[in-house]
Amino acid sequence: MFKRVSGTRDILPNEIESWQNIENISRSIFSCHNYHQIRTPLIEEESLFNRSLGESTEIVQKQMFLIKREHDVFAMRPEGTASIVRAYIENNIDKSQGFAKYYYIGPMFRAERPQKGRLRQFHHIGCEAIGSYGPGIDVEVIVLADSLLKAYGIKGYRIVINSLGCFSDKQAFILSLKVKLQEMRSDLCDDCKDRYERNILRILDCKNEACQKIIKELNISGSSRCEPCQAHFNSVRQSLDLLKIDYEVAPNLVRGLDYYNRTVFEFKHSELGAGQDALGAGGRYDSLVKQLDGPETGAVGFAFGIERLLLVANQQAIIAPKEGNLVYLVTLGDDAKNAGLQILSDIRQSGIIADTDYEGKSLKAAMRKANDLHARFVAILGSDELKEGVITLKDMANSSQEKVKIAELTRKLKGSA
Ligand code: AMP
Repeated sequence: MFKRVSGTRDILPNEIESWQNIENISRSIFSCHNYHQIRTPLIEEESLFNRSLGESTEIVQKQMFLIKREHDVFAMRPEGTASIVRAYIENNIDKSQGFAKYYYIGPMFRAERPQKGRLRQFHHIGCEAIGSYGPGIDVEVIVLADSLLKAYGIKGYRIVINSLGCFSDKQAFILSLKVKLQEMRSDLCDDCKDRYERNILRILDCKNEACQKIIKELNISGSSRCEPCQAHFNSVRQSLDLLKIDYEVAPNLVRGLDYYNRTVFEFKHSELGAGQDALGAGGRYDSLVKQLDGPETGAVGFAFGIERLLLVANQQAIIAPKEGNLVYLVTLGDDAKNAGLQILSDIRQSGIIADTDYEGKSLKAAMRKANDLHARFVAILGSDELKEGVITLKDMANSSQEKVKIAELTRKLKGSA
């Protein structure tokens, strides 16, 4: 019997609804922010990734699935950013439109050791905003990522941000790290001994306890940032504060790829486990477009891993409303109709499928419609209910009905779903 390749998954029909739900929500949130979908090939020339991610990065060193054909070497894409920048340049989008805001949804491939939340074929939902150096777009993508998680119904995540500064700052930081870690090299784990030579920044996110202890003692701060980079970071932080987005500054957050500079961020969730607690991550990459032979221009983006979103979302039982659990809201009279707008929106925002009658049908006709739609519940709001702050909830499975406080409705519905 054939088995699927280790680290890959079959997404069976009973899971498809969750996937489609995430994809649909994403499309709508991205659209509201004026991001447009782009689809690039799953294979690219290997050298595209070597050049952009960096020869010394773990992905390029160890994780690329390569396909050799005669004199060509192709790579199954390990991430989306390099391909999208390639497409931006190759299709002359810099010349025709300059600023481009793209989003993408699709599979990525990395030859990793498979474990929970770490696959060899996984799926990204991400975006790239290419064509601006301004801090405003950093803020936009962080807020956009936050809005996506809220729209998926995911709670309990933390936003962690840092600024790597410009490439000279980053270089200075790398040098100071080399000096500081020189004497402690022999105490690092084997991977970090190797990282010391190849990609020293990665030592900062090593999960090994001994390495963590050493890193803590280094007391890393953001002091190596130059003045314009510090001003950029301050501006990002001020806007996030204004928008009341909760975040933490983590000077140890570096991200593993060569192309990142200035703002970097991660969305972390403790339920994912220590080794891979990021739901998604991203940052600025101001030199990549030029490095891939395009114009000099700034860019920023992020990607979420869909499998990890689903791991967290399924535990919270918010995503993927089950078919047949539709709630049909019937309002009687204008006041109830107005109040019903908010109730409908609240039900939908909590991840439950809800619909209503838009034509002012009679109760009898509305109930018929609810039956046609196979509604699981009908929520009836008339003037008496409105006065009492309740709603009549009819369970269509057993025809029982009860009055539920409006404020309690979504909690009640979720408990019954
Ligand atoms: P990265 O491109 O490594 O910054 O990853 C962005 C997001 O993709 C991570 O936060 C994860 O959610 C997801 N991801 C990365 N690698 C894997 C993997 N091997 N398996 C599953 N999800 C992954």
